[in-house]
Amino acid sequence: MGLFSRSKPKIKIQTTKKDGYSGWIKCSQCHELIHVSELQSNTHCCPKCDFHYRLSGTQRVQLLADAGSFKEMFTGFQVVDPLEFVDVEAYKDRISKAKKSSGRDEGAIVGSCTLHGISIALGVLDFTFMAGSMGSVVGERLTCLIEYALEHRLPLVLVSASGGARMQESILSLMQMAKTSAALAKLDAAGLPYISILTNPTTGGVTASFATLGDVIVAEPGALIGFAGPRVVEQCIGQKLPPGAQKSEFLLEKGMVDCIVSRHILKDKISLILEFLTGNDKVYGGQELLSMLYGKPKK
Ligand SMILES: [Zn+2]
Repeated sequence: MGLFSRSKPKIKIQTTKKDGYSGWIKCSQCHELIHVSELQSNTHCCPKCDFHYRLSGTQRVQLLADAGSFKEMFTGFQVVDPLEFVDVEAYKDRISKAKKSSGRDEGAIVGSCTLHGISIALGVLDFTFMAGSMGSVVGERLTCLIEYALEHRLPLVLVSASGGARMQESILSLMQMAKTSAALAKLDAAGLPYISILTNPTTGGVTASFATLGDVIVAEPGALIGFAGPRVVEQCIGQKLPPGAQKSEFLLEKGMVDCIVSRHILKDKISLILEFLTGNDKVYGGQELLSMLYGKPKK
């Protein structure tokens, strides 16, 4: 035996098969082992700590719309690259990659459906497509949906999950903030309800426009909701942010959101709010709804 050789270790090393993925994952919040099938049957919430994992746009529609009732609309608007924008990667290439990985054509899914039998206009942002960022097509689809709700006198429900404005579309992206907000003002003037659901994460130009204009603003537990990220805010104001700032619970305390609703009962609660706002209280009286939303009145 030479000086630099060594004998093989006695311990048998267990190797993983190439396709050895068994479906077990570690929860990113409580670090417990959970199985993917458990997640799926639990609306993608951790069965141990109830951490709400992100849903794709399609899963979000499935969660809220009655089975088979969703009709997608305004799919004719397709993303273009008017600025021929290139950063580290060309916008065109980013788009085709996003289409491939998400299986979707843009970051918003809009359409009509029923929710526990109530006809609504439903729009969801799809984080799986370029982080649900709001480009011209996302803004246009949402605006068309709002106008559709107005025309057919339907309540509007929008679910946000977004990194904000889509920087590759520059000013064209920022214009969507004004456009969606102006359309919502018309909906408001027509006396039609708009429920905004904020999910993890809702940030940037989406928070700064339609997402925070709801008549009722609902948030999922533990969602990151803010305009700029915590580091940018800290640099800007020269102060450390309090713990939990920009989380749903903090924003509820400060009055930025009206209620935090667990995903397990989200559909039920949205239907209650809709019944209340549209004057249909055949299931629950207004007082019961208010106490469900805000808890029992303090004595
Ligand atoms: Zn967990």
